[in-house]
Amino acid sequence: MRTFDYTAARTVEEAIRLVGERPGAAYIAGGTDLLNLMKDGARAPDRVVDINALPLAGITQDRGVLRIGALSRMSAVAAHPLIRRSMPVVAQALLASASPQVRNMAAIGGNLLQRTRCGYFRDTAAPCNKRVPGSGCAALDGEHRQHAILGVSQDCIATHPSDLAVALLALDATVLTQGPDGPRRVPMRDFHLVPGTTADRENVLRHAELITGVEVPLTAMAARSRYLKLRDRATFEFAVVSVAAALDLRGGQVRDLRLAFGGVATKPWRSEEAEDRLRGRRLTTADLDAAGAALVRDAVPREQNAFKSTLVRRALTGLVEEMGALR
Ligand SMILES: Cc1cc2nc3c(=O)[nH]c(=O)nc-3n(C[C@H](O)[C@H](O)[C@H](O)COP(=O)(O)OP(=O)(O)OC[C@H]3O[C@@H](n4cnc5c(N)ncnc54)[C@H](O)[C@@H]3O)c2cc1C
Ligand code: SF4
Repeated sequence: MRTFDYTAARTVEEAIRLVGERPGAAYIAGGTDLLNLMKDGARAPDRVVDINALPLAGITQDRGVLRIGALSRMSAVAAHPLIRRSMPVVAQALLASASPQVRNMAAIGGNLLQRTRCGYFRDTAAPCNKRVPGSGCAALDGEHRQHAILGVSQDCIATHPSDLAVALLALDATVLTQGPDGPRRVPMRDFHLVPGTTADRENVLRHAELITGVEVPLTAMAARSRYLKLRDRATFEFAVVSVAAALDLRGGQVRDLRLAFGGVATKPWRSEEAEDRLRGRRLTTADLDAAGAALVRDAVPREQNAFKSTLVRRALTGLVEEMGALR
């Protein structure tokens, strides 16, 4: 690991200043991703600014929205009665993530900013456009069973690993930030970026911009939401495919819905076309097949991950059936 300065910030303003004055500086929350990347040599910040003393933990309810502070721990959010009751998909996604020990350390902001689990990104001997722009992509002709089929480019096919981000996308959440240029509100759907020709740029945050929290609307759909995660083993494993669904169901008819997908795309993935096919209907398996087909229409699978097109369609049908929305 390369040497670095360590400073614990006492205020949000101090944290932003300390990171802002060094291009190579990084925030640290739980450290469960950053420290691993530093040990692997995939990241080498010259200054690490600890934000754990900032007043950014906790969950509050205010006029139809729930605010989750960026430093709230994954385990605390998953266990919170308001989260479990009013947005179960968030609790389920968190409980399906990592291990109890990691969830006790890791914070919400850090979760949304965790880096891909593509093995080549973490292996400094391999070419990787995300780690070293312009160096190539070892996954294209290498091991890519876990990789993306949607939102891919010739530069990068890595999936985004966060389960929480998929759940928040299905709930139309907003990411709250504070930076050198003041506060910003970024809709979750615009927060993460597809790789294109800039695979190293994964989200819209500017240098030193701090996530302060996440805002989630309290809706009937959010209260009727669910997460399904398919993975190679039942625990302590990232998604091969995941689906988050929020449904507003009246008399067996879908009045409104949101669908988001993980494990299949380079960012948490929403398909409005799939949603449009299901809105206003009494659902049948044929409707779900058509929605699934719309979801993967633009997929670009490779040899080892072509199975994901079928698996994600089955996961969608399975989840909607579990939610009691199939005729
Ligand atoms: C063995 C293992 C298994 C895992 N399995 C899963 C899984 O199944 N699903 C899943 O979703 N995740 C999984 N994870 C990832 C884990 O959830 C993340 O490591 C964790 O959420 C990161 O949070 P953190 O607070 O530790 O972030 P840190 O490691 O402290 O930071 C991560 C990044 O975010 C930045 N950062 C942190 N907080 C802020 C902020 N408020 N504003 C701006 N920048 C910030 C840091 O600079 C760094 O770049 C796993 C991790 C491990 C180690
Ligand atoms: S898929 Fe992306 S992260 Fe993985 S090696 Fe290629 S460029 Fe790097």
